[in-house]
Amino acid sequence: MGQSGKSARDFLFNAQNLKRYKEAILQGLELVHRNIANSRKPFTGTHPHELAERFRDIDLDQSFSRDSEVLAEVQALYLDDAVYFHHPSYAAHLNCPVVVPALLGELIASSINTAVETWDQSAGATFIEQKLIDWTAGKIGLQKQADGVFTSGGTQSNLMALLLARDWFCAKRGHDIKTRGLPADFAKLRIFASEIGHFSLKKAAATLGLGYEAVIPVPCDRYFRMDPHALRREIKRCQDRGLLPMAVVSTAGTTDFGSIDPLPEIATLGHARGMWVHTDAAYGCGLLVSPKHRHLLRGIELSDSVTVDYHKSFFQPVSCSALLVSDKRHLSAVTYHADYLNPRNQLPEGTPDLVNKSMQTTRRFDALKLWLTLRTVGARNIGEAFDRVMHLTRQTYLLFLSDPSIEVIHQPQLSTLVFRFHPSRQHSEAVLDEVNASIRKALYRSGEALVAGTKVRGHHYLKCTLLNPAATIQDIQGVLKRIKQHGQEALAKQKTDHSVPVSLPDSYSLRRGMENARLHDL
Ligand SMILES: *Cc1c(COP(=O)(O)O)cnc(C)c1O
Repeated sequence: MGQSGKSARDFLFNAQNLKRYKEAILQGLELVHRNIANSRKPFTGTHPHELAERFRDIDLDQSFSRDSEVLAEVQALYLDDAVYFHHPSYAAHLNCPVVVPALLGELIASSINTAVETWDQSAGATFIEQKLIDWTAGKIGLQKQADGVFTSGGTQSNLMALLLARDWFCAKRGHDIKTRGLPADFAKLRIFASEIGHFSLKKAAATLGLGYEAVIPVPCDRYFRMDPHALRREIKRCQDRGLLPMAVVSTAGTTDFGSIDPLPEIATLGHARGMWVHTDAAYGCGLLVSPKHRHLLRGIELSDSVTVDYHKSFFQPVSCSALLVSDKRHLSAVTYHADYLNPRNQLPEGTPDLVNKSMQTTRRFDALKLWLTLRTVGARNIGEAFDRVMHLTRQTYLLFLSDPSIEVIHQPQLSTLVFRFHPSRQHSEAVLDEVNASIRKALYRSGEALVAGTKVRGHHYLKCTLLNPAATIQDIQGVLKRIKQHGQEALAKQKTDHSVPVSLPDSYSLRRGMENARLHDL
């Protein structure tokens, strides 16, 4: 059953159905318009079991006869309870509001449905992606032989970086992984990353056959940056045990604290020991175009590979990411010549087939939205928007610092702030854990403001991730007010607190104390 008397042919995107196309897009546009115009808060607070109810009786073997019914269903199942990242009270994860030209890019690229695999499927799209890769490599400061490819996200970029690192390292030792698989002594390979590096590095190590334990966590300094002395120590310890340090990963913008590892020191150290140097700038890549803070990435140009997530700090819709490498020859680790697709020497002059440097085959033309963004908004304005969220985060830090019921544990570096509700030293850590966890739950349930949570020293903290350049300190004041209200309510519920009062100093001196403490000592 379909819409009465129609076949799939009537729905195809082609010259005969352009009227339908235009109508459908306009209907979608109206729908989105209405939802954004009416959105009063970032979320309704629905619970999974409540929403699941609405899905229970849906039969996907049946279709509707009218478009209006289809859209009403999308409204009920999705848009009513969507989480709206554009809302100024959304301050939870690394999700950004998106710029309009990028949405135009999505529409065009999806309609034409270009797959950027081979030149014979994408032509100009190939050059658009390549030009953006070259541009990004230039911003990083990589040299002429640099190259890269768009990916689905930081997770895939990190996986690919570690794959290139592993294959390069083993090739140096005379073993070709691509054709022969892992070498006999593969279990000795080690990757070094900050103790608060992204979990995708461990997942990558597991996927690459090395296992989580191949990733050595390196302690951080008091600013949550990898300590190069500790790195040297950890590498030495591995070497002494006959292990094989193959790669070191710097994080330029940790997910929780926004901290940037000392890139030049780590790169120099890694290269001196024959290791691959990868920089995970999934979050910090916005600094590449920042008029004020580009210097924070000093040393990134020494990397062998760099992860960038345009869908985090370039205000792009997901997905939009890339992996850059300093030497394009490394990308051959993911090249496969298929007779049907990209045979060797396809044309006498060769063709630029992007599939030759991607882990994916059929791949979205995500580059177009970034292209439209740069050509409409401009790179400098994107950088200024990132500067603005960094500034808002500094204002937020001062606001929280001046509030006696809030404990802030770090000075922000990019646009995240980790803190907790800690109104008096009378409360035990157990109570604080419970209260802060319930603040987050209550906020989520109310949907009025969303913040994230994380653990520091095994305890519950709250985290604001500020990526909305349209948000103001007044918006954050509103969020803070709600945090404190829910905090007081949660405390009141803990009427009888028999546990031992916290033996830590009060929140003010704890804030100061953190300045002198090292994360791994806590
Ligand atoms: C978000 C993030 C990733 C993962 O990126 P996805 O695009 O979510 O796959 C990797 N590293 C860091 C530092 C991140 O913040």
